[in-house]
Amino acid sequence: MPHVVTQSCCSDASCVYACPVNCIHPTPDEPDFLTAEMLHIDPYACVDCGACVRACPVGAIVPDRKLNAKQSRFLEINHDFYDGTDRSGSTVTGASGRSILAKPIPLTPITKVDEDLRVAVIGSGPAAMYTAEDLIKRPGVQVTIFERLPDPYGLARRGVAPDHQTTRQVTELFDLVAANPRVKLLTGVEVGKDVTIDELQQQFHAVVYAVGASTDKKLDVPGAETVTSATEFVAWYNGHPDYADRTFDLSGERVVIVGNGNVALDVARILAVDPAKLTETDIAPYALQALRDSKIREIDIVARRGPAQAAFTVPEFVGLVDRPDITLAVDPAELVIDPETAALEASGDLPHATKFKLQMLREVAARGDAGASDDRLIRLRFMRAPSAIGDGAITLVRNEFQTDADGRTRVVATDDVETVPESLVLTSVGYHGRPVSGLPFDDRRGVIPNAAGRVDGMAGVYVAGWIKRGPTGFIGTNKSDAQETVRLLLDDFNAGRLASPARTAAPTESRLR
Ligand code: NAP
Repeated sequence: MPHVVTQSCCSDASCVYACPVNCIHPTPDEPDFLTAEMLHIDPYACVDCGACVRACPVGAIVPDRKLNAKQSRFLEINHDFYDGTDRSGSTVTGASGRSILAKPIPLTPITKVDEDLRVAVIGSGPAAMYTAEDLIKRPGVQVTIFERLPDPYGLARRGVAPDHQTTRQVTELFDLVAANPRVKLLTGVEVGKDVTIDELQQQFHAVVYAVGASTDKKLDVPGAETVTSATEFVAWYNGHPDYADRTFDLSGERVVIVGNGNVALDVARILAVDPAKLTETDIAPYALQALRDSKIREIDIVARRGPAQAAFTVPEFVGLVDRPDITLAVDPAELVIDPETAALEASGDLPHATKFKLQMLREVAARGDAGASDDRLIRLRFMRAPSAIGDGAITLVRNEFQTDADGRTRVVATDDVETVPESLVLTSVGYHGRPVSGLPFDDRRGVIPNAAGRVDGMAGVYVAGWIKRGPTGFIGTNKSDAQETVRLLLDDFNAGRLASPARTAAPTESRLR
């Protein structure tokens, strides 16, 4: 009987290396690791030893005999990922390209032993904590983490929805890192204000910026400047001190969320769920009260493309689609499939995640719940782009697919326009990084320009996480990302390319205590 990866998978791949038969994929060295929406256990290769269960930081792995009703879909999802694997003979690589031999990533050792390596990490979210975790695997490394807020762990604490408590368990792993005697975690310290960059460079061999993407992408339509973003709503209900005094008008009937990524799903779920179910969570008390007083009945999630391009992930949608307490609605007429996806579906070659998204969306559409229920309703809309927001309504233009002469398909606006009354619009079109004083910045991508973590043109300065690669992936994606940065940092240290700190003690740290 196999084990199964379920919804809260964080993709940090701890399970991959714990598995004695390498049956969990994609592994960080496989090409689809960064695009996969979760990890999957091969039901044929799993020996049911449970090593992965102990390694998983978020309790996402369950023996199939213990799956509850809401998790049962994950059996098929895990199984399907390996569909087509050639299991004949003692081959090391199946037809799916999945290696059956473990391929551990070698740990870069420290070969320069005449001095300890001192590293400052800016930020204390997942990318920062995985950076520190990886660095201290070597003796003789000291890490100081600087966090602006009074409490640590960034989006692992202030971004994960309060009803996703298992995902938040990853902070227990970060607690272990922070408790290491060679790690100092300084909270309430803002680099650039309480500590200067010059001071850091005098005290540390290297500075790693893991400051995330702390603002939103902006929606470029008239009236968008008057509305707020879903990420601010998330920060508000999670008690982020910068957002605690915000107010959101929940006195009307309908919220429209623009964009259909996982943030949109989180926000819609929190707005739709019975607030009584949130009382046991650590949602901010003021937000819980506002949700109790809420008059919202309908939450529309509006996407400009089709169901095959949905930005939400399969595990997150499974977590919504099988809930008896939330009504979902999809208009079958909006499940428009682009020609490439249609061709792949016809030939049975749909990508794994697309296949499950389409399957579940069609299932919801077939249920025919569209708007009839007294429950709070989440309506998933497709092929609609906002063209104006204001006066209690959002104007949506219907899009359609068009294939260009070069064979590329894109969405184009039609003349078909509708006006949807709303009492609140939240834009959920992705996060965006902010510039860091003194460092180069790519404003279009919202990242600090870098080569695999080395900041362009700046010796001893590195990046990890969203400020390095942009706002994609899951909490655990930051682990392999941080490891890549650490490998280069150690290469530079070993090669003598990092200037020794002018001060061996850390006056800044003692001043801050
Ligand atoms: P996201 O996944 O990048 O989704 C952004 C959405 O906004 C997409 O639907 C995108 O549509 C749409 N969009 C972008 N620009 C637009 C425009 N100008 N007009 C209309 N729509 C526009 O962003 P996110 O939801 O903020 O999530 C960020 C990352 O955090 C993701 O990797 C996500 O998986 C992760 N996350 C994970 C979890 C979890 O695992 N539970 C929870 C929250 C966030 P197009 O695709 O058409 O561009």
